[in-house]
Amino acid sequence: MAKIAVVGGGLSGLSFAWRLKKFKPDWEITIFEKDKRVGGKAWTIQEEGFKWERGVNGVLTNKPATLNLSVELGIEVYKSNDNARKRFVVKNGKLVKLPEKPQEFLMSGLLSPLGKLRVFLELLTPKKANDSDESLKDFAIRRLGIEAFENLIDPMATGIYAGDPEKLSLKSCFPRINELEMQYGGLIRAMLSLQQKARKEGKKGPGAGPGGHLVSFNGGMEELVTSLTNDLKDNIVTGAEVSKIYKKDNLWEIILKDNKKIEATHVVLSSPLPQCAQMISDIIPEIKEIASNIPYPPVAVVALGIKKEQLKDKINGFGFLCPNKEKRNILGTLWDSSVFPNRAPEGYALMRSLVGGMRMPELARLNEDKLTQTVIDEIKDIMDVDISPDFIRTYLWEQAIPQYNVGHADLMKKLDAIMDKNRGLYFRCNWVGGISLNDCINNSMELARQLTIL
Ligand SMILES: Cc1cc2nc3c(=O)[nH]c(=O)nc-3n(C[C@H](O)[C@H](O)[C@H](O)COP(=O)(O)OP(=O)(O)OC[C@H]3O[C@@H](n4cnc5c(N)ncnc54)[C@H](O)[C@@H]3O)c2cc1C
Repeated sequence: MAKIAVVGGGLSGLSFAWRLKKFKPDWEITIFEKDKRVGGKAWTIQEEGFKWERGVNGVLTNKPATLNLSVELGIEVYKSNDNARKRFVVKNGKLVKLPEKPQEFLMSGLLSPLGKLRVFLELLTPKKANDSDESLKDFAIRRLGIEAFENLIDPMATGIYAGDPEKLSLKSCFPRINELEMQYGGLIRAMLSLQQKARKEGKKGPGAGPGGHLVSFNGGMEELVTSLTNDLKDNIVTGAEVSKIYKKDNLWEIILKDNKKIEATHVVLSSPLPQCAQMISDIIPEIKEIASNIPYPPVAVVALGIKKEQLKDKINGFGFLCPNKEKRNILGTLWDSSVFPNRAPEGYALMRSLVGGMRMPELARLNEDKLTQTVIDEIKDIMDVDISPDFIRTYLWEQAIPQYNVGHADLMKKLDAIMDKNRGLYFRCNWVGGISLNDCINNSMELARQLTIL
């Protein structure tokens, strides 16, 4: 009988084990999680009437993996309201709304007339000669010009990856955008073709913002964790840190920190890459090269509960991002209770700011008082409000988000070669195949399907 060991109980590991258990209820499946709780970066805290996320805020429904899983689990999603479409960036120290529709782009104060003209010239920009890897910055400047890069693309890299657009790979971070250029010859051409196709099919075409609807759960992302955990009660061991993994004949030997040894026919590594590398580098030294090329910057999350009257109606929207050239001390702020009203008690608003990332890793590690003061000062200045929060919580992710830099696709080929050489060893975590929760769940579900036909 197959004996499956899953190392790491984040949503990648949990969703993999859950799906495999549905397919193969008689297989022995065990999740080893180093912490006392499972869920990894999906972690909602409920305190004093606030529901604040330490990590994942929600998912977009344009990729349906999380939505489909929630339907199967029988838990209802909590849809964001229309404010989720109103997104802002900081420009010259002030908030500027991003266009929701392509037509609004012309009227938007985001770019100068010349900057807008340069964006339209994208239509005449030739397609890249080959499909080589390119940084997000090089791509954006080549196709859209420097202004669009600085005000639009750079904050996008911050919002999703807390990353450095000079290093992030377009192909690995935003594969769809790369495909659109390759397939249609450019982004405007792609948008026009897709809109025409959608019209013919009586559907709505692509807009200017991210596609899909932002959703979470009534009790925050923790609800998804709890629901999966309920079905996996007998399969989870918490406080079980895996320190090493070895091969023993046709089996895998997993060694826990307390020296306990477990044998398995298959091992699925669902932990961050630095930890995976530590576990297997004795037997697979090639993993060290991959690990040294995927940085994990720290990110601190600062949640503030503020009386609504102090905000003077200034939080109607998803939140704002800070382009690098604005030189702010925060990456951006999400106005959680504006899009998910149940995140704050009556009369209060909840917002969360992100600090650190590749740009300013040292700021994420400020002590709690300095970190909080930094965030409050930035909010006061950017939003032009005088706030004194009644609720303050912080959390530091020392290894927050793996960076898919230029060359990432080649690293993933090397990872595939490792899996080919080592039968029964798999990697499923956010450093492989997409960092969004939708990608993580989709990739885990897919592996569970593959294993059932072995
Ligand atoms: C601040 C923040 C906000 C985010 N917001 C969003 C968002 O809104 N939407 C979105 O789609 N994505 C978001 N993400 C990304 C998203 O969190 C992740 O991609 C996803 O949750 C990762 O899940 P995972 O299971 O792959 O990894 P993780 O959640 O990192 O889980 C890995 C697990 O492995 C365990 N582990 C580590 N070492 C060992 C060991 N030696 N032995 C046993 N167990 C071990 C860890 O304790 C952890 O539980 C966010 C990330 C961060 C940091």
